[in-house]
Amino acid sequence: KTFEELGVSEEIRHAIEELGFEHPMPVQEEVIPFLLGNGNDVIALAQTGTGKTAAFGIPLLQRTDPNDRTTQAIVISPTRELCLQIADDLKSFSKYIKGINIVAVYGGTSIVDQMRALKHGAQIIVATPGRLIDLMHRGAAKLEAVQNVVLDEADEMLNMGFSDSINEIFDNVPADRNTLLFSATMSKEIEKIALNYLHDHKEIVV
Ligand code: AMP
Repeated sequence: KTFEELGVSEEIRHAIEELGFEHPMPVQEEVIPFLLGNGNDVIALAQTGTGKTAAFGIPLLQRTDPNDRTTQAIVISPTRELCLQIADDLKSFSKYIKGINIVAVYGGTSIVDQMRALKHGAQIIVATPGRLIDLMHRGAAKLEAVQNVVLDEADEMLNMGFSDSINEIFDNVPADRNTLLFSATMSKEIEKIALNYLHDHKEIVV
């Protein structure tokens, strides 16, 4: 299959062709058409290196309205390095889409600069859980219009003790959003999150 057959827009195809993506990887072949069609929630068991960032990133970008400055999607990830990597990838995929602002926020660095970055309007926020909550409490991250929530490396976040933070984030986004959960492994705790926060999800193992 080609990215065009999966429903990927021309602007994004142009950008990923420049990155050297010729054919979709298996997780992309499963996740992209599902989310661009009528699909909502997904659990994907996928390791790093399988192409998972593009699998959730391309549908997120394609579902984002560049003319609306409110935050429409959040990607939660365990570390600063991963946040920066994901934000970089999303920026490359959206190179030919005008008006999409992607902001990475994470702990261990000045919150004031991040508050300023969010003030300009970020349709997509890529965040570590603790810092996102901090920004939410300060009114800098506004999640009431979020339509898509991605948990990346969910098993890692639970191992790091972010379970309460993840619950608090879910308590502050609309109930009718879509939820995408990516994890290298399955566990009782992941099943609990799925039970609490996902509805009729598709499960993909790569
Ligand atoms: P990830 O699993 O998201 O960390 O991606 C692993 C690597 O594969 C990254 O360097 C991506 O840029 C690259 N990649 C993702 N999708 C494709 C594709 N369809 N063709 C070639 N490379 C890809």
